[in-house]
Amino acid sequence: MPKSGLNACPVCCGADYRAIFPMFAHPDQVDAFRFVPGHFCICKGCGLIRRLPVATRDDMTDYGKSYYDQMTKSKASQNSIITHANLQKLHYETMRVELLKRFPASEYPRWLDVGSAGPPTAFTDYEFTTIEPDPLAVEIGRELFSRDRILCGILEDYKPERNFDGLVFMNSLYCTPTPALALAAAHATLRDGGILMIAICGKIMDAIDNGVDGHTMCIEDMLRGDTLFNYFNQSNLEILCARHGFKMIESVPVLFPEIAPFHELRFMFFRRSDAVSFRLDAADLIEKSRQKTAIVLKTLVAGFETATRTTIEMIDRTDTAIITTMDLLVELFRVRPLTKAKLLVDVEQSTPSVGFSINGAHLSGIADLVRDIGAGQTRHVVIINFNGRMDIAAMLMRQFGAGALNYYAPSRTSGINRIFSEFDGSLQMIKGLELNRLELTAGNLIRNPTVVCALRDNNLD
Ligand SMILES: [Zn+2]
Repeated sequence: MPKSGLNACPVCCGADYRAIFPMFAHPDQVDAFRFVPGHFCICKGCGLIRRLPVATRDDMTDYGKSYYDQMTKSKASQNSIITHANLQKLHYETMRVELLKRFPASEYPRWLDVGSAGPPTAFTDYEFTTIEPDPLAVEIGRELFSRDRILCGILEDYKPERNFDGLVFMNSLYCTPTPALALAAAHATLRDGGILMIAICGKIMDAIDNGVDGHTMCIEDMLRGDTLFNYFNQSNLEILCARHGFKMIESVPVLFPEIAPFHELRFMFFRRSDAVSFRLDAADLIEKSRQKTAIVLKTLVAGFETATRTTIEMIDRTDTAIITTMDLLVELFRVRPLTKAKLLVDVEQSTPSVGFSINGAHLSGIADLVRDIGAGQTRHVVIINFNGRMDIAAMLMRQFGAGALNYYAPSRTSGINRIFSEFDGSLQMIKGLELNRLELTAGNLIRNPTVVCALRDNNLD
């Protein structure tokens, strides 16, 4: 593990890390999932989870330009920026309401927004300036929001003529590899007594943003890949800000129901002070931060285990066919053996079809499945595959029609088609199996099955 220089922990200055998982590209596009150089690492001193090695300033020159491409590879950059800007607009509108409750525009008129396409520059009460590294995002933002107060650049290079009354990192502080430099620049840019607002989402920040169901059911739900450099928790973010002259005022979770039922951000408000004018019991907070990370990882894996066990108990019945791969079946049996399910189908046909069994359970082929369904003995089909499962559903529907069977599939697609992996030094679960019922019709089958209900009541009917 790296020992020095840029890799020093921005929170506790330590340089002793342990790697927990290989770095992957931003996982929103499962088809484009891939592992990339680097690791998610935990600082042994304070528990900060970071992407290492840290990108250098040279690496970062192209980072802003490629950020939006990484967000949605399958679309043109321009469209993805507009989509992202409209999502940001909803975040900023709610932020404006929260700011007005606390920091009236008459006392705090001028604000700097770091890293967006510039939605707050359209406000009429606060006067916002946005600074953003991506030239295309700046160009589009100027069309959408404001011509003259969306600047292209990075905060660390920005020297305003006069200092601001407030500064906002809206989901952007964790996107910089060097948050300490960003906070030092923020301190230099704000007037004394000015306000710093940092908005961050995610399980580690106690703000769950897994929109559809609010569950954290795979590792990608928590660790979002290579677009984020630091996964702060409330304690280590408080320490980091204090080290740069910001005293915490308040930390509140804020929901965005207009975006998704469980979309949540945490807003943390700080006041700029002289860096040495207040003291913070950092040792206490560092220990709290370290423990927080340990608890988050432990509950994450425990949650995967509980969800998977509950699901297996639910689907282990004689009228249910379970279609999966040999690898995944072996993993399911590690959690809880299937004893009643009659049809365990290895869809890859990678095993001998006659007389093969796994832990005493007979393993069937597709031919057995077709025969059983034809005889009317199977009512439910559970497709346990985190990738490519729609091909299986399509095959079954072509054979049996849309209405003959109930179909279920995992609530998560994932670029990692395994349940167990080496994680934080040992073989652990990196996802939990929860099921959604799929509404399959000829029109919606292949790409966009409707999620009818999530199954959590231990009952398939
Ligand atoms: Zn640290």
